[in-house]
Amino acid sequence: MTYDKPVPTPSPLTKPFYDGLKEGKLMLPRCQDCNRVHWYPRYICPFCHSINIAWIQGSGEGRIHTFAVQHRASGGWAKEVPFVTAFIDLNEGDRMATVLRGIDPAVPSAINIGSKVRVEFEKAAQDIYIPFWRVVGD
Ligand SMILES: [Zn+2]
Repeated sequence: MTYDKPVPTPSPLTKPFYDGLKEGKLMLPRCQDCNRVHWYPRYICPFCHSINIAWIQGSGEGRIHTFAVQHRASGGWAKEVPFVTAFIDLNEGDRMATVLRGIDPAVPSAINIGSKVRVEFEKAAQDIYIPFWRVVGD
């Protein structure tokens, strides 16, 4: 299936993230002064304002923080409605927005806050992969 949704263009700041996705790795920025992971990538740590940031390989595991069923969308996403957007509490810290995979958007009562999720990678374009999260447990 052709990926017909917006495709990101890596910048010097986000290149390590997209390079990791190509290799099936979820790379995350971590401050080397306060040791906290932050999402999204920034040049300055949002917790302690250090510029001493390094990339670590994340576990690719987390839990659902919150979710919402989307009934309207534009572009390529319009063909997938309804779908479920969510914020994922990463095991390493901070949160990542996603579209949940492996759930039925018609039965939101079956989706639980705190459920375990695992990242997976979908090819969007040549050398560009997008991380999505799939529910794998309670
Ligand atoms: Zn910091």
